[in-house]
Amino acid sequence: MRLVRLIANLGYGSQKEVRRMVRDGRLTDAEGNVLKDDARVDHALIRLDGEALDPPGGLVLMLNKPDGFTCSTSDPGRVVYELLPPRFAHRTPLVAPVGRLDRDSTGLLLMTDDGALSHRITAPRSHVPKTYQVALARPLSGEEAAIFAAGTLMLRSETTPLAPAKLVEIGPQSAHITIVEGRYHQVKRMFAAVGNHVEGLRRVAIGGLGLGDLAPGEWRLLTPAEIAAIF
Ligand code: URA
Repeated sequence: MRLVRLIANLGYGSQKEVRRMVRDGRLTDAEGNVLKDDARVDHALIRLDGEALDPPGGLVLMLNKPDGFTCSTSDPGRVVYELLPPRFAHRTPLVAPVGRLDRDSTGLLLMTDDGALSHRITAPRSHVPKTYQVALARPLSGEEAAIFAAGTLMLRSETTPLAPAKLVEIGPQSAHITIVEGRYHQVKRMFAAVGNHVEGLRRVAIGGLGLGDLAPGEWRLLTPAEIAAIF
């Protein structure tokens, strides 16, 4: 890709603004030679004001989403993009959440500009398991694991039953639940369907990928091995 479009697509500015950066000599190669025209240059060799560029297209990152942030670019409240470098909300293609977490849900959120990969992770037929830790308003009855595992639970206003899900009790009012779909407010609605109420929901894993020691509000790029661990 040519220099101007490459830099503009990374969100550094409009093509007009980037052309001005070129004219002002702010774009150089790794040796400090000024890039004068709209040439094809390898992303890894470009410096803007002496700094390496943001990661190139095809990135996948994980964010430990805190409570109170929505998975949206425009929302009157706080949005997950505030937790990333400001340019990330202006990249083309957009670095978008892979599936969504509710505003009050926390934990592992993947974001990528690779639409096909995002689809592979979220499509129900991919059967990528997502595991959530839930804090419940009332004690578990002991019957939830069998009900969720049966693959017959029907949520209100839906026409097909949920795929089997796995529940592991971790306390009287807390559990890990693993689902392979991503229906609207699915986990909250599953517990509502068995007479309980989710008070806290934290996603702890997507496929074989966990949050590790990533602190709430922090993010980092995934390595190819970590991306492979999702599937
Ligand atoms: N299920 C929910 O109900 N909410 C989430 O944020 C994720 C899964």
